[in-house]
Amino acid sequence: MRADRPEITGAPDPAGLPTPAGLPDSTERAARPDCPSLCLVCGFDYRDQPPADWPWGPAGTDPSFGFCVCCGTEFGYADATLAGSRRARKAWAEGGHRWHDPAARSENFDPAEQLKALPDRIR
Ligand SMILES: [Zn+2]
Repeated sequence: MRADRPEITGAPDPAGLPTPAGLPDSTERAARPDCPSLCLVCGFDYRDQPPADWPWGPAGTDPSFGFCVCCGTEFGYADATLAGSRRARKAWAEGGHRWHDPAARSENFDPAEQLKALPDRIR
């Protein structure tokens, strides 16, 4: 190891990549093996879709690079880290929880209720 590079330590993430130790939250990869059908930004649940179409695939480790029908997040970019997901969620809220695809909006959509689906570690 070269002395001018930080040592990468820590538990591997589900994709098998090492988690850099001691780095700020913004670099924490937003792995989601516990909730692969959820958009980590808005909590929309894709479980009625084929798993291959879920935000980060059936294992929650490989972004589809599709766009969330609800919040418009492109999976694999803004939601690649937990901090990025939180920032995108804040922007979505400040924009009035607008739907990317209004035709997909359910009549009883309640953003607060939908966001309850997210695990605490992602809020
Ligand atoms: Zn979303």
